[in-house]
Amino acid sequence: MTDTAILLIYTGGTIGMKQDPVDMALKPFNFGQIVDEVPELKKFGCRIDSVTFDPLIDSSDADAGFWSELAALIEENYYDYDGFVILHGTDTMAYSASALSFMLEDLEKPVIFTGSQLPIGVARTDGKENLISAIEIACAKDSEGRARVPEVCIFFDSALLRGNRATKYSSDEFKAFISPNYPALAEAGINIKYHGKFIELPQRWGKPLKVHKRLDTRATILRIYPGMDENVLKNTLEMPSLRGVLIETFGSGNAPSKDWFIKNIRNASERGLIIANVTQCMRGGVDMEVYATGMTLKSAGVANGHDSTTESAIAKLFFLMGQYNDNQKVKELFETNLRGEISN
Ligand code: ASP
Repeated sequence: MTDTAILLIYTGGTIGMKQDPVDMALKPFNFGQIVDEVPELKKFGCRIDSVTFDPLIDSSDADAGFWSELAALIEENYYDYDGFVILHGTDTMAYSASALSFMLEDLEKPVIFTGSQLPIGVARTDGKENLISAIEIACAKDSEGRARVPEVCIFFDSALLRGNRATKYSSDEFKAFISPNYPALAEAGINIKYHGKFIELPQRWGKPLKVHKRLDTRATILRIYPGMDENVLKNTLEMPSLRGVLIETFGSGNAPSKDWFIKNIRNASERGLIIANVTQCMRGGVDMEVYATGMTLKSAGVANGHDSTTESAIAKLFFLMGQYNDNQKVKELFETNLRGEISN
């Protein structure tokens, strides 16, 4: 046994379910007994401790408070473990991984989210493989004993993806996640193949972890669609106490050029509302200099989300608004690559 130690954090979701032999319903099982369910864990040459969230949540209930608790748990245990594996429902895993990537600054250890499409207690589960590979990645070190993947990631169905680049893509296939705009950091086949040139390493090792637990959630997401009524836009932008709106636009960042649309965006922006732009397209990003409609948004002060996923962009807004009162500063940093979440 090496002295490598991993903290396994169970928050809820399908992976931790088992069929109750009495009523046959899926219920969370006692994670203290994880080794009984996955005896393969005994063969790891590392120590695995586990913590169970109380209460366990379906990830549809994830929120800023939950993310802060997760960040605090990692902060408390950061120097006692070599890596962290977070078992989480798949539905909002990409939001949680994105949020944690911003909240944990100067991270030098792996934080790997995983889960499964089928409960760990059923015969064809994908949970065992996901869990075992996630732990192996969390334990992996380079020749100098430093973490091979010091990032917040999602491991799912043989691919290790940067957390703030991933999106849930399928509700019923084992390959539930993709990373449309950034390559996988590693792939698990017979061996785990690390794609070193895509993994972000610290510029200088040895910095202490900085944990930012304050998030400001006074932002919303507005998906633009043909036929949108002016009142939908107006009422959204004028919602009391709102600080930010993430608009999901067409193609390379385009929106209607109708007067009422531009006027509402411009007025809201002049009032100081943070308006940020991500594309509805799965691949590619926003370029507000291609079409006149995009240029109008840019001139109205709309911030460019580049090739960010919606999950990452909203988490980044919550994070930046939690750190800064100055909305101009939030917009400036929103356009900047902070944790490998955008390609510019
Ligand atoms: N509803 C579940 C959740 O996200 C689904 C899953 O675990 O995959 O918590």
